[in-house]
Amino acid sequence: MTFVAIMAVVFKEEPGIPNQFITSINEVHLYLKREDLLHAEISGNKFRKLKYNVQRAISENRDRLLTFGGAFSNHISATAAAGKNFNLKTVGVIRGEELGEDLKKTLRENPTLAYAAACGMEFNFVPRSDYREKTSEDFIRELRKKYGDFYLVPEGGTNSEAIRGCEEILSEEDKEFEVVCCAVGTGGTISGIINSSADKQKILGFPALKGDFLLADIDKFSRKNNRELITKYHFGGYAKIDKALVDFINEFKTAYGVALDPVYTGKMLYGIFELMRSGYFSQNTRILAIHTGGLQGIAGMNMKLKKKGLPQIDV
Ligand SMILES: *Cc1c(COP(=O)(O)O)cnc(C)c1O
Repeated sequence: MTFVAIMAVVFKEEPGIPNQFITSINEVHLYLKREDLLHAEISGNKFRKLKYNVQRAISENRDRLLTFGGAFSNHISATAAAGKNFNLKTVGVIRGEELGEDLKKTLRENPTLAYAAACGMEFNFVPRSDYREKTSEDFIRELRKKYGDFYLVPEGGTNSEAIRGCEEILSEEDKEFEVVCCAVGTGGTISGIINSSADKQKILGFPALKGDFLLADIDKFSRKNNRELITKYHFGGYAKIDKALVDFINEFKTAYGVALDPVYTGKMLYGIFELMRSGYFSQNTRILAIHTGGLQGIAGMNMKLKKKGLPQIDV
């Protein structure tokens, strides 16, 4: 098979996954776009963000992808899976030097890194101070000395190739929804959605972290202003969680048969339900929430929850 043919097979989304009706509250109707079902290993929006990056890496004859992430990152997991699928080597530059001290122990305690390692990813564990400098020329030059002429994918995967991939999330039929909701990390995914939305649609972003820089980042990558951020559902910050969120995720799965991840989609849907109940949306609004995937993160979060004595997320 040619590379193009392999690309077509691996980066082929499941055709025609219908939007799933979830519920109506106060005459407001909620549907879910099941991007989590796009691909078995390269989850949800990370599939969209990697698609054109991998295509470019292959067309430039690079044999290695290098990227950055935290120890439970969906992006690290997806990049490792993409490398395995395309026969590209992968390097993960991971925040936290201490994780490299006893790799066997780290892999036992971290399902994300264990999976990435099983896909063949090589790790470079760096101190948090170095990690903050990861976009500096010096840091990249050192990495090039060590790993050669890799294709660099930024942290979270966000670059112009990623935005192009995320512009493929909304279909023509999705233009009938007045409101589209999306979880926000770096802002790449929502930027693609904004770009391919209809002008009359409102795109609501639910940041999974604290920080007022996000809107500026989104405006850098997107071409329109039909967006707004709902900033009060971060639950204390990135990957922070409490019992109310765990309960909500478990109740959602029981009621609608859909698993949500604790870092992004769980928080977004918690927020959407609260807004629907409080009368935030006008009657007969139809909302399309994007399920961006991320379910690989549940196993790692459950280990954290256990240590804290909090209830588990049902799997
Ligand atoms: C990474 C991720 C996001 C955030 O995407 P950005 O493009 O970084 O804003 C949202 N949902 C899930 C499940 C993710 O893994």
